Amino acid sequence: MENYKCKSVGIIGSGIQGVCIGLQLIKKGIPVTLFDRNDPLSFEFKPASYGNAGHFSPYAVLQFNRPDILNDVPKMLLSSYGPLALKWNYIPKMFQWFYHYLKNCNKKSMLHTAKYMHQILNLSLDAYEEIFKEIDTKGLVEKKGIIYVWTNKNLKSRNLEIKIRDDLGIKQKHLTQKEILELEPNLNPVFDAGVLYDYAMHARDPHGILKNLFKLFIKKGGKFIQTDIKNLEQTSANETVIRSESEKYKFEKSVIASGAFSKKLTDQLGENIPLDTERGYHVHFKNQDHLISRPVIFLDRGFGLTPMNQGLRAVGTVELGGLKNPPSEKRIKYIINCAKELLPQLKDHYDEWLGFRPTLPDFLPILGPSFKNKNIIYAFGHQHLGWTLGAITGKIISGVVAGEKTNLDLTPYSSKRFN
Ligand SMILES: Cc1cc2nc3c(=O)[nH]c(=O)nc-3n(C[C@H](O)[C@H](O)[C@H](O)COP(=O)(O)OP(=O)(O)OC[C@H]3O[C@@H](n4cnc5c(N)ncnc54)[C@H](O)[C@@H]3O)c2cc1C
Repeated sequence: MENYKCKSVGIIGSGIQGVCIGLQLIKKGIPVTLFDRNDPLSFEFKPASYGNAGHFSPYAVLQFNRPDILNDVPKMLLSSYGPLALKWNYIPKMFQWFYHYLKNCNKKSMLHTAKYMHQILNLSLDAYEEIFKEIDTKGLVEKKGIIYVWTNKNLKSRNLEIKIRDDLGIKQKHLTQKEILELEPNLNPVFDAGVLYDYAMHARDPHGILKNLFKLFIKKGGKFIQTDIKNLEQTSANETVIRSESEKYKFEKSVIASGAFSKKLTDQLGENIPLDTERGYHVHFKNQDHLISRPVIFLDRGFGLTPMNQGLRAVGTVELGGLKNPPSEKRIKYIINCAKELLPQLKDHYDEWLGFRPTLPDFLPILGPSFKNKNIIYAFGHQHLGWTLGAITGKIISGVVAGEKTNLDLTPYSSKRFN
């Protein structure tokens, strides 16, 4: 590999993963073309990387493959006022995902996921700091920490989370209700305690940040083609072909960074990867971002508030229902009610958005070459943490494409684990 230099790369998807990968590759002097069905600079561009809660949350190692919440899942699904919902017409399509989820919902897998999420999350802020030096982030990023609040109802789960983070050496500051109210005096005290991650940051405008990174990519010589990609294949040892309805594009290597839509492409490559989506929603309350200084997440409700330039963004819930079902009015109402529970002074909302978290049933992303086609590289499945993991994914995947050595153990992120 010593004098190897990749000649060209095509990347499908210009969400945060695609743009960060493209940027790192261009910096290595490798020609890159990004594809997306929407132009990242346009108003139509509203993927997960646009509408997320904007948390850069390097501490969030624990995912939903945890036995302590498994017992609560049926109760949550049957309640229309809970953080988890299911589109019943989608159940038959989720069998494969549920099968792998149940296989991975045990203490051993939970700790495995936490360990390997920690490996990359731990590097995530530094990776952003590095690329933020190259763009203007004024008014786009704030470093005031992130607060989680909870009631005493599920203390067993809260204690488990605290212990696992302690074991991994993750810094967390426990807060009483009084201390939370000192930091965020406008909150309605419907919670009992919480935790502050004071080193965490949040985006005041995720789309604004992505646009600036994309502009930098173009400025450095990256190409962008707006088109819907239908399929791709590896045609020889050093050629891959990406196809739209009417065109075909040749590159030495191709990267699938298409978020929750990646499965449509990987299925055609003969790899049956159980990627699905956890749907989430947001609404904004215009000019109400001054009510809190930093993101506040209410864990019992599975929702949070982030002060953003568009207004106060109320965001969250998990709905299992695939990519094609229409948005659920009930979920939007749930988020609005939760927001008003924490901040009763809120009035009208605007701007309802549905987004798709790309989630694998063991809650680890897939990062690395395809099992069957070594020149097709995967970079998807970042679930609730894809915004946090954008910059580090860019570094990892650009290294894989360029054939560089790494000290990271990338085996746990391979697609082989599902084959
Ligand atoms: C409600 C919600 C809140 C969230 N909050 C946070 C948070 O606070 N912190 C955090 O770290 N993460 C958060 N996330 C998760 C995070 O937003 C995602 O994991 C991340 O944005 C995924 O990035 P991506 O680039 O993989 O995919 P995406 O952002 O979905 O981008 C994929 C792109 O690929 C394009 N594409 C797909 N298929 C094709 C095709 N065939 N042809 C052409 N283009 C194609 C799409 O148009 C899209 O632009 C949240 C997600 C949601 C839904």
